[in-house]
Order: sequence, then C-alpha cells, then structure tokens
Amino acid sequence: MSYKITLQPSEKTFAAEVGEFIVDAAHRQGIPLPYSCRDGTCGTCKGKVLSGEVKHDHYSSQALSDDERKDGRALFCQAQACSDLVLELDLGNSAVQRLPSRVDQIDNLAHDVMRLFLKLPTGKKLNYIAGQYIDIIMSDGRHRTYSIANAPRDDGMIELHIRNVEGGRFSDFAFHHLEQKTILRIEGPMGAFYLRQDSTRPLLLVAGGTGLAPIKAIIEAAQQAGDKRKTLLYWGVRSKRDLYFEETVKQWAEAEHITYVPVLSEPDADWQGRSGYVHEAVLKDIADFSQYDVYAAGPPIMVSSARNSFLEAGLPEAQIFHDAFEWALDTQAAIKKD
Ligand SMILES: Cc1cc2nc3c(=O)[nH]c(=O)nc-3n(C[C@H](O)[C@H](O)[C@H](O)COP(=O)(O)OP(=O)(O)OC[C@H]3O[C@@H](n4cnc5c(N)ncnc54)[C@H](O)[C@@H]3O)c2cc1C
Repeated sequence: MSYKITLQPSEKTFAAEVGEFIVDAAHRQGIPLPYSCRDGTCGTCKGKVLSGEVKHDHYSSQALSDDERKDGRALFCQAQACSDLVLELDLGNSAVQRLPSRVDQIDNLAHDVMRLFLKLPTGKKLNYIAGQYIDIIMSDGRHRTYSIANAPRDDGMIELHIRNVEGGRFSDFAFHHLEQKTILRIEGPMGAFYLRQDSTRPLLLVAGGTGLAPIKAIIEAAQQAGDKRKTLLYWGVRSKRDLYFEETVKQWAEAEHITYVPVLSEPDADWQGRSGYVHEAVLKDIADFSQYDVYAAGPPIMVSSARNSFLEAGLPEAQIFHDAFEWALDTQAAIKKD
C-alpha cells in the first residue's frame, strides 16, 4: 500500500510505501528532497505537513522541538506517511539530473586530498546553487556524495575535493585508478546547503577538513554577487599538512571583510595558531551568535557539536545551515551488520 505525497509550492507528487521514510521515497522517484544526517539529528530535511498524518521514528528534540511538532513541522528523513500528505517544502532549484562527466584534471592538493575537475558533455549544464552536492554513481550502482567546490562557472566545470578514506570504496578507486578522461556518472544537484542571499547578517563559516569544499563554493558565490558581508571563516583540521588549500584561503582573507582562523586539533610542535576543536574556538570568540548566519560543513561529529553548542549559546535555529559528511547508506548498513 502506498500514499500520495504532494509537495507545495512545486506541486510535485510521488508515492510513499507504508513504513518508508519520506526522503527515501522521494529520492527513489528522483525528487531531490534535502537531507543530510538521515538520522533525525540535523534538521536539514525539516518541512511542514499542510495536511495528512505522519509518524516519526527516532529524532533529536534539538532538530525538531515539541512546539515545532505542534505547529505541523516534521523531519522527513525520519517521518513516514500514515495518510496522503500535502507537504510544504522548498526544493531550492531545478530537478535532479543524471549526466555523464569526464575527468578533465586531477590534482593532489595534500597527502590525502585530491581535486577533480569534471567536464560535462557539450551543451549540458548542471543547474545548481553554490554549496549543493552531487552523487557519483559507481559502476556497481553505489552512490557517493561530494560537495561541489566551486560556484557555477560559465564553462560548466565541476570541482570536487576528495579525501582518501582508508578502505573506502570510492576514494580508493579515485586515488588509485582514476585517470584523466575517465567517465563518471553523476546525479544532482541536491541539498539545501547554499548561501541565503536574502539575509544581510554577517557570515560565520565553519569547515572541517574537506568541508571546505562547499564553503569555498559559497565564498565564490558571495564574491560573484558582490556580497561584502563581514565573514568569519574557521577551518578545523588535524595538523598543518591538512590545510590543503591554504594559499587560496589566505588570498580570500586579504579582503577586508573576510577573517580566516585555522584551528588544529593535533597541532604540530611549531604551530603558533589556534588549537583544539574548531567549534570550541568559535565558542571562545563569539559573544553574540544571534548576529550571524552560520554555515557548517564537514565530519558529522564536528557539525553536530557545532550545531548543538551554538544553539545553546543563543544562535537562533533558523540561522544555521549545515551539511554533515555522513558515510553512504550502504556503508552505514554494512557497518551496522558487522
Ligand atoms: C552531503 C555530503 C557531502 C559530502 N562531501 C564530501 C566532500 O566534498 N569531500 C569528501 O571527501 N567527502 C564528502 N562526503 C563523504 C563522501 O560521500 C563519502 O562518504 C566518503 O568519500 C567515503 O566514501 P568511500 O566510498 O571512499 O568510503 P566507504 O566505502 O563508504 O567507506 C567508508 C568507511 O567505512 C569503512 N567501512 C566500510 N564498510 C565497512 C564495514 N562493513 N565494517 C566496518 N567498516 C566499514 C571503510 O573502511 C571506510 O573507512 C560527503 C558526504 C555527504 C553526505
């Protein structure tokens, strides 16, 4: 048995089976509902139920408060339909496309980070907003998600920053077998992590490791739009060698409105800068979070620590946007089974 789900304002519809999470049902049918943690903890998939009934599996009250539930809000990564539904959810931009892309350039940016430039077929363009991500579809059909590291370019080139994860299926393939001209199938754009340009609040950007990729795209988008809001960029990595893109980051910080703070969690002996976890450095520096729009991307533990501690310190929930770099669903399932 399935229920009909209608999205407003787009009027898109899809079917959700009994017991199926709404985000999973939508993605199965090619509708890019935003999500990140898939665990009811981050709030990226939150929207409003305009009519009908949903039931939730587990979720964090930090991501969905009792008041929000009473107001009809739901977390669609953990909500299942109990009737036909009408949901209010902004899909951001256009539909997800599946395209072939060709590896145009490969650069080693650090001991464990590579940069890929992907070229789309002539006449094709991925219509995305800076900060969103794509999936790479591997030859066995598995999906791996990567943030697009550049704002849209006239030549349509897509930049990715990929960390080498030990034992990782795609990263192992990328670091050992990928060559120029390899064809990669991609699907996107997806995600709700993009610069809200209707706000004039200063930006507080917090990146962990390759979480710098979508933050880079957002900085480029702000530059393209002539947006000179005060911007604080905190980049947390283990040690100096992990600051894989620092020359460019330092160039951004030459602009008067951008301040860059690298934070090392395992500092080298000669490091004179900030040490510790990146969210803790932010907490030490910021007295009034309510002034800022916060964008955080990187490892799930970093993103959830930043989110929870900043909210506790007074950041309004509507002013934080994030992408947590969770393992793929098949990897999470395999780890649980072992
Ligand atoms: C929104 C989003 C954006 C992202 N953007 C980026 C980005 O810009 N750059 C980036 O580098 N990453 C990004 N990621 C992470 C990326 O999608 C992948 O999860 C990551 O690259 C690892 O994929 P993999 O195939 O190499 O590893 P996987 O094969 O998924 O393995 C991951 C880890 O799990 C271990 N593992 C696998 N199976 C088992 C098992 N059965 N038991 C125990 N351990 C197991 C592996 O050994 C490895 O350590 C993003 C993720 C999300 C959700």
